[in-house]
Amino acid sequence: MRQRSRTRSRATALLLLFALITSTLAPVTSAQQPNIIQEHWYHSYTTLTYDVQAWESDHPDIVKVISAGTTVLGRQQWVVQISDWSVDNKSDGSPKEKVYIDGGHHGNEHLGTELAFLTAEFYIEGWDDGEEEAVEVLQNTELHIMVLLNADGNDADTRWNTNQVDLNRNYDHHWAPEETRSGSGPFSEPETRNNADYMAEWVPDADLYVTMHTGTWILAYPWGFTGDMPSDWELFEHIRDTIHETIDADLPVRNANAGIYPTHGTSRDYGYGVMSYPTFTFETDDEQTLLGTVQSLSDRLSVELEVMRYLISNIWYWRARLNVTEMEVTPGKEVVLHVVNNGHATTENASIQYVFEDSMEVLWQSENFSVNASNESHVTLDARNLTLRPGGTFALHYMKRVIDSSPWVHQPIDPDLVKIVEETEEGWLPYPSAALSIVCMIVGAIYSKSRSNQRFPSGDEIN
Ligand SMILES: [Zn+2]
Repeated sequence: MRQRSRTRSRATALLLLFALITSTLAPVTSAQQPNIIQEHWYHSYTTLTYDVQAWESDHPDIVKVISAGTTVLGRQQWVVQISDWSVDNKSDGSPKEKVYIDGGHHGNEHLGTELAFLTAEFYIEGWDDGEEEAVEVLQNTELHIMVLLNADGNDADTRWNTNQVDLNRNYDHHWAPEETRSGSGPFSEPETRNNADYMAEWVPDADLYVTMHTGTWILAYPWGFTGDMPSDWELFEHIRDTIHETIDADLPVRNANAGIYPTHGTSRDYGYGVMSYPTFTFETDDEQTLLGTVQSLSDRLSVELEVMRYLISNIWYWRARLNVTEMEVTPGKEVVLHVVNNGHATTENASIQYVFEDSMEVLWQSENFSVNASNESHVTLDARNLTLRPGGTFALHYMKRVIDSSPWVHQPIDPDLVKIVEETEEGWLPYPSAALSIVCMIVGAIYSKSRSNQRFPSGDEIN
C-alpha cells in the first residue's frame, strides 16, 4: 500500500535480457512460463493471461477461469476458480467453504500479485501431485482468486489505474473524498465495481477474503477507517495468536488503522463491513528488486504462503458454528438448552425458533442469547408463549459473525435431542405423543362421565 517511486531502467534492461534468453536459449514450448522465469520475474498481464489459460486447459477438473469484467483500457480481470469440480458439495452434503482472494489493486505492487498467483499454484500443483492437503482443500473448498485486479496499472508500473485513481480507496464503505485519489465517488472505477459485483454474485457467503499488497510486512484486519476494533475481534485475535504460535512470531497481525495507517474506502473494510467476510490485507515487504538475486519467489514468499495455507485449511472455523447438545422443553414455561460453539467467531443474536416444517412459518421465537467463540452456554429461555403442535419443529437461528452485515443461519435441531417435559401441576400433556393425548382425553372424559353419576358419602362431586 505504500506509495513509492521506482526507476524502471534496471528492470527494463533485465526484461530485455530475459526476453532474449527465452527467445533464443529456452523457447517456450508450453503456454506457461518455465519455472526458471516464473520464479525470478513478475507477471505482466500478458504472461498472466497465458498462465491462467494454461491452468484451465491443463486442469479442467479443478480450474475454471472467468473474467469479472474489464479495466478502463479493456483488459480482463481474470478470476481463477479452483475446486474439485466433479462434486458440487462436500461428502456430507453440505456446501463447500468459499475463499476469495485478490491481488494487484496497486499495479506496481508485484510481490502481492505474485502471492495471489503462488497461492493458486500451490493448490493446483498439489492436486496434480496427489498431496493430501491440496486434495482435501479442493474437495471441501472453492478458491476464487483474482490475481491481478489492476492490469492497466501493472502494465504502466504505477500504483493507480488509468484514471489515476487509487483503487483501494474507491470502495463503497466509508468512502472519503479527502483520501488521496479516491475517485469521483464510491465505485467510480470499473475495476472496483467489477470486484464488488464478483463478490456479490459468486461468493456472497465466503468465510475468508484476503487482498494482497506490497508495502509494510503485515497481515492487517479491519478496520482502516477507524481505530475501533472490529466486532469480531475475538476471531481476528485467535488467528493472530495461532499464527504467532505456529508459523511466525514476528509477522505483525493487527488492525489496519494502527498497523498501517488510517484509510477509507478500502476493499478490506468493504469486504468485512458490507459482505461480512473475515478479511485481511496481506502486505509483503517492499523489497521487490529480487532480480539479480538467486532467491526464488516461492522461497521469498514462503512465510506468506504458509499463513495462507493455515487460513484456507481452517476456514470452517471462521464463523460461529452452533451445535445443540441438550434441550429440554417445558411448553408454556421454559426451554433449557446446552449449546456449543465449535467456531472461532462469537454470535450475539442467537435464538430458538419453533417452526411449522411444511410452511417454515415461525410459530414461536425465543429471546436472543449469545455464545462466545469456541465456548459453550447453558441458557434458560422464557417459553410462556410456546404451544406445541403437530408438524412443529425446533431450529437454531443465529448470525455467522457479530458484524451487522453477517448472514443468518437457520439450522434444524435434531428432534431426538429435544426432551419434552410435562408440567403436571398445570396439566400439560406430553408431546410429541399427540395421539396419546387425544386417547387420554377420551379415556378421561369417559372415566369422568362414568364417575359423575356417583356420589361419595361426603356429597362431594369429583370433576
Ligand atoms: Zn497496496
